[in-house]
Amino acid sequence: MAITAPLSYPISRILDALLGEEIGNVYNRERLKELVRVTNDVNDLDKNEVNIISGALELRKKTVADVMTHIDDAFMLSLEAVLDFETVSEIMNSGYSRIPVYDGDRKNIVTLLYIKDLAFVDTDDNTPLKTLCEFYQNPVHFVFEDYTLDIMFNQFKEGTIGHIAFVHRVNNEGDGDPFYETVGLVTLEDVIEELIQAEIVDETDVFVDNRTKVKRNRYKKADFSAFAERREVQAVRISPQLTLATFQYLSTAVDAFKKDVISEPILRRLLNQDVFHNIKAKGKSKDDPSLYIFTQGKAVDFFVLILEGRVEVTIGKEALMFESGPFTYFGTQALVQNVVIDSPTQMGSLQSLNMDSKIRQSFVPDYSVRAISDVIYIAIKRVLYLTAKKATLLEKSRKSGTFSSETFDDEVERLLHSISEDEKPRFLAASTRALSKPNRSLTSSPTNIDLSHDEKSNSPSVHNQGDQRIGNTEPTEDASMSSLVASDVGDLQNGEQDDRDATAASTPLLPKLEEQPK
Ligand code: ATP
Repeated sequence: MAITAPLSYPISRILDALLGEEIGNVYNRERLKELVRVTNDVNDLDKNEVNIISGALELRKKTVADVMTHIDDAFMLSLEAVLDFETVSEIMNSGYSRIPVYDGDRKNIVTLLYIKDLAFVDTDDNTPLKTLCEFYQNPVHFVFEDYTLDIMFNQFKEGTIGHIAFVHRVNNEGDGDPFYETVGLVTLEDVIEELIQAEIVDETDVFVDNRTKVKRNRYKKADFSAFAERREVQAVRISPQLTLATFQYLSTAVDAFKKDVISEPILRRLLNQDVFHNIKAKGKSKDDPSLYIFTQGKAVDFFVLILEGRVEVTIGKEALMFESGPFTYFGTQALVQNVVIDSPTQMGSLQSLNMDSKIRQSFVPDYSVRAISDVIYIAIKRVLYLTAKKATLLEKSRKSGTFSSETFDDEVERLLHSISEDEKPRFLAASTRALSKPNRSLTSSPTNIDLSHDEKSNSPSVHNQGDQRIGNTEPTEDASMSSLVASDVGDLQNGEQDDRDATAASTPLLPKLEEQPK
């Protein structure tokens, strides 16, 4: 090369000047993309790498309008919203970390709420969203819809505008002056997805793709808003937060209520029953019987979890005493004691549960539990607990397919024609009528409805102790069960109305579960 250089170099310069640069070495965007594609069989590039290369090359050709989430699909909050339990659980369920806040019209976005801003918010305080927004004053950034993605990517990279931008365009349709119209939102994730030519799904995403709105196939997240529902059936009203805490505690810390024994939806429904109770201790003497939740030596058939306040526990003959507070529980044995072997972590069979519920047994505590301050607690009767277990079993059988569809439908039908807890008065009337009919009197037993301990009765009575069960039916359990599974059943019935009406109330005589076809 050195020897021929004096001759070859000037010649090459002259040829360059005459013919232009060598065609084979210059690639524009399109040629480069094509080159990568056609040489795919011979080069050692992975499919993902090919996608990323072509994605990077396309970035400059695509605009934010192509990738944005349309404004109608955006999850937003009104500036007038209040940060109560319901709103916050809605935000949590949405799965988004940045929530646009609008004033009046959805297109009038004034600020942003970051999920992190909620860290110090107590939903009990019902803080107006406006207050929080005025405190944080998170700015919003707008971009035009024809911005190309490479510019957008650079802006997001710099961090000055955050990782979300609102897309607007000039609207000059109609008679009035042109104005800026907000049409969507775009985030860094949208741009990166175009870059790598694939969908990114994070822990909290609800959709796989924001545009096609393909729902993600993921584990079902707890829907906290369910705890905000108020049920008329509950005599003692407690906050949704406390219901949620109770739910979480029971499903994680108490064996008898863990997920594999009582499913989460059923447990949620169980807590919607009239299970919350309170005791007012003020102005009552120490020995007042209404202060006693459990009395030593007196049989009980319910489980108790203290939620608020303090209790004094006196144990054994020596009367050892200790104080205890929220989230201590008593009487699990009243629930899980049974004749058929059935550990708290095993579901057992429907038959064993039925046998179990037919045997009138109770737990006799060797300790007393007395309220020493105002106390809120839940008391779950054995019969209600067993009903919840049955409902869970039914739900599981349905899912695992062990229940044939027909059997399941029969069961569901039966539940639908039983009554719900809410219909107790009608049920009692109907049952009384039924009892007066000679052919029905032997199989009807409308007992066991009330939870024995509340403010009015004020004693942890066990008035069902001596009940004689006549026949094989248990209307109350099935009634509770129907209210426990009703909405799930509703889904299964393809939205058909649950017509538990007068006819339902007048047919409380249910067939034996054991007699169900297998
Ligand atoms: P992060 O992953 O940082 O927690 P995020 O999950 O809330 O944030 P991104 O991951 O940035 O949101 O975006 C995921 C998808 O959701 C994107 O397609 C984006 O357009 C869309 N998106 C983001 N925020 C909202 C919102 N408030 N309403 C509707 N869609 C949104």
